[in-house]
Amino acid sequence: LARGLDPYLEQCSTPESPALAALAARTRAEQWTDRSLVSGSGPLEQEMLSGHVEGQTLKFLVHMTRARRVLDIGMFTGYSALAMAEALPDDGEVVACEVDPYVADVARQCFSESPAGARIRVEVGPALTTVLRLEGPFDLVFIDADKTGYLDYFHYLIGSGLLAQHGVIAVDNTLLQGEPYTDHGARSTNGQAIADFNRAVANDSRVEQVLLPLRDGVTLIRRK
Ligand code: SAM
Repeated sequence: LARGLDPYLEQCSTPESPALAALAARTRAEQWTDRSLVSGSGPLEQEMLSGHVEGQTLKFLVHMTRARRVLDIGMFTGYSALAMAEALPDDGEVVACEVDPYVADVARQCFSESPAGARIRVEVGPALTTVLRLEGPFDLVFIDADKTGYLDYFHYLIGSGLLAQHGVIAVDNTLLQGEPYTDHGARSTNGQAIADFNRAVANDSRVEQVLLPLRDGVTLIRRK
């Protein structure tokens, strides 16, 4: 029996679907060292994938908010997009933004092997450019792309009609391996960006938020 917190969290959470397990296996099987991802200086590329427990949390959020339209900012090979798509009703839609055409192709292949994949529309390009031309409203938004872009995504979503009135934003990596609350003198660019993001959200009187210590930190945000 596997020991440790992560296997235990997985055991106690609803199992991932065969399609999500296959997507995760496909992602692990890629020779990521043979090519550099656009965002590639972070943790191991395979660790970029949100995975079973975080994916199940996103599915839960889709069900709980009764979302019909979801925006995935930072798709990678599509785990979060497919997880959320699986929880949507048949007429629901995920718009998934990814800047790297190679990973977007891997995602598309995985989506084509799953019925829920038909609910996902892939938009390749810088997410901020994509988001500026999208029509809302979106009931749920998952932000998991470039950390230095988080504040722009947040301000645009809250300030525009893109986020539904009662919509929810989930933001990944808001603990960034502890950097926002430790190493004040030696933060990486991403660590500083997340520290700035967390402070801006905490000081924004328009929103209610909670930072959950799930994996690398997930902040949930909604308009007051
Ligand atoms: N949500 C994904 C999942 O569940 O597997 C993981 C996303 S991964 C942590 C971050 C992704 O954001 C990478 O695939 C990267 O190429 C993409 N990315 C980085 N900067 C971006 C940008 N400006 N616009 C769109 N995608 C971007």
